[in-house]
Amino acid sequence: MSSGGQPHEAAAVAAPILEECACIAECSDHSMAEPLIKWLKTDIVSIEKREGPHPLFVLLNILESNQKIATKQSESEVQSGFVDNWQNGKSVRQSLRYSLDEKILCDVTFIVGENRKRIQAHRLTLSLRSCVFLAMLTGPLAEEDDIEILDIDSDVFDQLLRFLYTDVISINGRNVISFLYAFKKYDIVDMENKCLTYIESSMSPHEVCFVMEQAHLYNEQDLVQKALAYIWQNGDEVLKSDTFCGLCHDCFVKVIEADQRKTSEESVFEASIAWSEAECRRQGREVTPENRRSVLGESMHLIRYSKIDSSYFVQKISLSSLLTKAEEIKIYRSFIVQNQEVSPFKSNHRLGITWFPSIRDNILPEYQTHNGSSVLDTVRFISIGHNLFH
Ligand SMILES: [Zn+2]
Repeated sequence: MSSGGQPHEAAAVAAPILEECACIAECSDHSMAEPLIKWLKTDIVSIEKREGPHPLFVLLNILESNQKIATKQSESEVQSGFVDNWQNGKSVRQSLRYSLDEKILCDVTFIVGENRKRIQAHRLTLSLRSCVFLAMLTGPLAEEDDIEILDIDSDVFDQLLRFLYTDVISINGRNVISFLYAFKKYDIVDMENKCLTYIESSMSPHEVCFVMEQAHLYNEQDLVQKALAYIWQNGDEVLKSDTFCGLCHDCFVKVIEADQRKTSEESVFEASIAWSEAECRRQGREVTPENRRSVLGESMHLIRYSKIDSSYFVQKISLSSLLTKAEEIKIYRSFIVQNQEVSPFKSNHRLGITWFPSIRDNILPEYQTHNGSSVLDTVRFISIGHNLFH
């Protein structure tokens, strides 16, 4: 970088970085300071040729001198026999939690989630709590310093660790499926069952499509089927919910194609129109009859137009211009001529259902509700399952 106006530009670009880095410089958490120093030394070389001290280099000096002071303090504490008795008055659970929070004697580091957050933990604790961690940490990855876990969100993994250390976790409608995935992955079966029970007992017409989409995302096929069964049972109300429009195309098709659905075809049509509008917007396309047809694709044929009231067809469906004129004529004929072929449109009556699959086992979580805190009430599982030291 040359001298002149450019150092000022570099300083402006660096300003927000600097602000964040300054917080790290002030705190004593060296796990954050170390990678920052490394980054400053390796990636900021390009701004070395400058006039006057650049703020980032000033920051680098502060960080390095802070670290030296901290190291000296720690050495002098050891030499003087000073002991920080943080264990005093703490239960086993509190001590474990403290060791995790303060990274005391951690011997494994996970690189977690899309943001690749570094999370430190203890091999022994994790191995005592999960057979998957035991296999992982004593098997091929035993010698690895850093273990990548990219399929779990870092916040979820963080809370999973806290659960493994303390038996306490806070699960709500927005995070329950992420936790379900994590508990399944690490084979923590009792918590997996509790998540399933919570999901199923908390299902509502307004939220079931969100549950179904999340279950699809995490490939929880059993849960997808349970959500579908609930949808079949609660037809119209589900189709009018906001979360219905958030379904992906595959899930949308599963919902509207089923013969077991207990709903009117008018509702299916209106839901399809609402979903197609949402999908057009998701794809950045103008909401036109042509684009609606395009995003609906073959699923357009799943609506039983020939079973819809003829006056509704004229007033609503025809006016929507979703169908071509030839398709409309075909449907009109079916209103007049019995058993008129309307292929490729489906024409059979939906059957409705008289059964609903049982939900799960009889384990019920303790509930702690928070008014309006989330889509579903929050459930807090306390002191469940494996108590290590009892
Ligand atoms: Zn889906």
